[in-house]
Amino acid sequence: MQISITKADQLKSKPDENKLGFGTIFTDHMFNMDYNVEKGWHNPRIEPYGPLSMDPSTMVLHYGQGVFEGLKAYRNKKGGIQLFRPQENFKRLNYSNRKLCIPKIDEAFALDALKQLLDVEQAWVPSQPGTSLYIRPTIIAMDPFLGVRASFTYRFFIILSPVGAYYAEGFNPVKIMVTKDHVRAVRGGVGDTKTLGNYAASLLAGDEAHKAGYTQVLWLDGVEQKYVEEVGAMNIFFVIDDELITPMLSGSILPGITRDSVVALGQSWGLKVSERKISIDEVMDAHASGHLKEIFGSGTAAVISPVGELKYEDTVITVGDGQVGPLAHRFFEAIQEIQYGAIEGPAGWIEMV
Ligand SMILES: *Cc1c(COP(=O)(O)O)cnc(C)c1O
Repeated sequence: MQISITKADQLKSKPDENKLGFGTIFTDHMFNMDYNVEKGWHNPRIEPYGPLSMDPSTMVLHYGQGVFEGLKAYRNKKGGIQLFRPQENFKRLNYSNRKLCIPKIDEAFALDALKQLLDVEQAWVPSQPGTSLYIRPTIIAMDPFLGVRASFTYRFFIILSPVGAYYAEGFNPVKIMVTKDHVRAVRGGVGDTKTLGNYAASLLAGDEAHKAGYTQVLWLDGVEQKYVEEVGAMNIFFVIDDELITPMLSGSILPGITRDSVVALGQSWGLKVSERKISIDEVMDAHASGHLKEIFGSGTAAVISPVGELKYEDTVITVGDGQVGPLAHRFFEAIQEIQYGAIEGPAGWIEMV
């Protein structure tokens, strides 16, 4: 399928790379493609960035039938543009599609479309250390209809946003809090997909954590509220003695690509890496007996987010010495060096644009 390209008449002025935040500035063009039953996915096009026009009855607005992805394009030291494991994002997008009854996309075509969009927008990939161009592929149900069923029509779009270094004020640990008043997901549900409603459903718990002085919520499993699942919208790792532990994918945990990369790198470094169930009691006991060394989150936005303090019921613990642990630091540096092309990662992790 040929992708048509319509250039914007006027280009926006580029932002100051030293003052980029997250998700507020968008580039000049976007990718769009439509789906209907007769034609399947059709009319792929790169066109000027702009508002979507939709009927107020459009299904996604009412029942949340929509999915998305998040990845980044990085400027390497030679000035080239590279992606980190983008095939995994489109594979996961199709996994989300299947669970939300959205027709699947051609993953190779989607990656090619993204590369063509990045080619048009290459001047928008910033080059200051830690900056990148955030990529948001999204698919939404488009039927103007208020009945509850899967839509017959969809829009797939990709937008781009230059973002600043996540740790503009330094690589500092965050404070997290276990919630027992809310659950994020249950096995058999959609917690393992990037679907719209999951994030709306996490806001109240996040709000309560912020009011209590914490940055993120540590989610326990939705059934027994016993096993650790995720932190905020990141996966989570614990270092207990010499074991690096992350909760095994249970059906309610989002299978993070950063998580998978930490596991793979940890194994390649000869660490003892376990994907298993880990209860909050095990974490608290390990701390009480002096065996808990580190906790950190993993995700595309922050790469690694070290945890300095954890609150569970009435107990507040300081993790390690409350500073960034050595493994959190090592993973943060290694993954970033691979993403920005300073070192070569495992085969197939980097895709040049
Ligand atoms: C996106 C996301 C993650 C992290 O996935 P990455 O592929 O590493 O960015 C973890 N948890 C949730 C709930 C997410 O939405």
